[in-house]
Amino acid sequence: MNYNSFLNKEISDFLSLEVPGFPEPPQGRKVIMFSEGRPNFSRFPLDKALPYVQEVFKTEYQTMLQYPPIKGNPELMKELRKLMEKYVSLKGTEDDDMIIMSGSQQALYMVSRILVDPGDYIVVERPTYLEAIFAFTYNKAKMLGVNQDENGMKTDELETLLRKLKSEGKRIKFVYTVPNYQNPSGATLPMERRKHLYELASQYDFLIFEDDAYCYLSYEGKALPAIKSLDTEGRVIFTSTLSKILSPGLRIGWVFANKEIVKALLAAKEVIDLGVSGISQYLATIWLRNGIHEEFLKIAIPWYKQKRDIMLEMLDELFRNDAHWTKPKGGLFIYVQFNNKKVNTQKLLEYAKKKGVLFVSGQPFYHDFSVLNTIRLNFSMPTEDEIKEGIRLLKEAYDEYLSS
Ligand code: PMP
Repeated sequence: MNYNSFLNKEISDFLSLEVPGFPEPPQGRKVIMFSEGRPNFSRFPLDKALPYVQEVFKTEYQTMLQYPPIKGNPELMKELRKLMEKYVSLKGTEDDDMIIMSGSQQALYMVSRILVDPGDYIVVERPTYLEAIFAFTYNKAKMLGVNQDENGMKTDELETLLRKLKSEGKRIKFVYTVPNYQNPSGATLPMERRKHLYELASQYDFLIFEDDAYCYLSYEGKALPAIKSLDTEGRVIFTSTLSKILSPGLRIGWVFANKEIVKALLAAKEVIDLGVSGISQYLATIWLRNGIHEEFLKIAIPWYKQKRDIMLEMLDELFRNDAHWTKPKGGLFIYVQFNNKKVNTQKLLEYAKKKGVLFVSGQPFYHDFSVLNTIRLNFSMPTEDEIKEGIRLLKEAYDEYLSS
């Protein structure tokens, strides 16, 4: 069968995109993985979490095995509201509402699905979360990029861009931002920039799509208040997820936004999947209610922080003259930019693979794939010894690559 004449244009266009991929680990050989973006569950408090699995099935099985409410389980929403208030000082207004999503990935897809007509302009950070680029591309948004420095998106640059667009009679639908411990950069958007971004949204009449997956993983005190907490006009669509705090396997994320936006998402979600798994929602509720996430964070935060520090020390020892990098206050990633603009990290990866260490080239995190001399390093998955050894191997690979 040749399916080319059956697949529609939307998916055919998407499939034909040439996206620089993530590295596959070589078969049958141990490699040090700095390339993952996952939480490390080797210390998940299973002994504490497991009894609740049985308890929730015993008490709730009639409801949890049923079709869930499409919008989500109200008890879960109560717990999520507590999380938002505790971690990012977010309460919202009376006009705000919530909908449970299958991970915040579904929020990325659905929010752009309901807002973007093909060819509409949106703004993304350079670099930004790769899967968000995919969702926006699939929904045919035209992405414009605003650069980051060590403090995240340069809102002055955004202002210049908005002015220019306005003079050309163009508008943007939304700005997508990951303000805390960004993926991939690790940067945090300071309060002044959050305010500036919100003022610009008001002035130039666009929405802000705030994706906060990492606010729970703070290593230097509490995360800053969400941009959504500044929102008096209903301009901010906030999404977050349980993936980094409990489990990505639950596939639970949510959107917290003005009720008109939630109404549109609800209509679209009914068509797409009739709601998120009730089993996941009930399990998440009982775990959150009984503080399993806090038990996990109590272990994960000092542990990840220690690994971050070791990685920073190793980079300082070995790459001081060749590169600069972010010093993230939370999250899972350090982002390295080589001083030499000609470094092609996709090629460097081939050398690193041979040495037994993997990273992700920063290239796919740019909506135009235009930057080649950066890499994203994850510190949550490797052990402390692997971090030391891995950065050493990376340096050897880098030297070999340069002298080739
Ligand atoms: N947004 C960002 C910035 C992420 O890093 C991730 C996960 N890596 C997601 C959204 C999606 O997470 P999930 O679908 O698991 O909730």
